[in-house]
Amino acid sequence: MSIAENVAKIRAQMEQAARAAGRDPSEIKLCAATKMNDAQAVREAIAAGVDCCGENRVQELVEKYSQGAYEGAPVHFIGHLQTNKVKQVVGKADLIQSVDSLHLLKAIDAEAKKQGIRQNILLEINIGLEESKSGFLLTEIPEILENISTYSNICVRGFMAIPPISRNSGDNLKFFQKILHLSVDIKGKKYDNVMVDCLSMGMSNDFMDAIYSGSTMIRVGTAIFGPRDYAVIHQS
Ligand SMILES: *Cc1c(COP(=O)(O)O)cnc(C)c1O
Repeated sequence: MSIAENVAKIRAQMEQAARAAGRDPSEIKLCAATKMNDAQAVREAIAAGVDCCGENRVQELVEKYSQGAYEGAPVHFIGHLQTNKVKQVVGKADLIQSVDSLHLLKAIDAEAKKQGIRQNILLEINIGLEESKSGFLLTEIPEILENISTYSNICVRGFMAIPPISRNSGDNLKFFQKILHLSVDIKGKKYDNVMVDCLSMGMSNDFMDAIYSGSTMIRVGTAIFGPRDYAVIHQS
């Protein structure tokens, strides 16, 4: 199957999941998780109509950016970001989805201030309480948002979550629903620099469940591009 055929199939599944949940399919964006795929593959995905691209590694983002790979679609950052690489991402990424610590949030705010821009971010939540994953705890979020007005060069647009790897469909519904409940709570309050309109959750194997639970952005790699060749990464 070509990238275009895969994207068409995913769009049909997105629509089906949205309708089953009584939602408007146009509320849900498709982010192509482009890691380990080259500029040509990225261009094909954009031509096939994905809404945005998400990169995991700063080096890949910078390289493909300079090749003009993202022309026609915004690029997001979705991987773990080290503070010493923040200046390479702020201003290039329309949305930094993977803000996983206050330390990183502060660094992004400072860099955005330097550039004279306002950087859109999502707070990443470690929803499955996994030691192997970074992110905030769900219970930390209200306090962080209480104090967010200090950081006037960021805007918190919502939350990103990667639940544990699931074996069976339905396994992650409970995690997705926790994020949905959090977002409803937060929307009911008024915080400066916070405008929750994005819930980034759902990947190739669980995006239907995520849409059913209120996701507004799914991040899909394998189902668009096919399996990644990890041998390539181990060489570099
Ligand atoms: C790779 C990746 C995805 C996509 O995963 P697939 O299972 O290939 O769809 C989504 N989100 C993040 C943060 C990723 O790193």
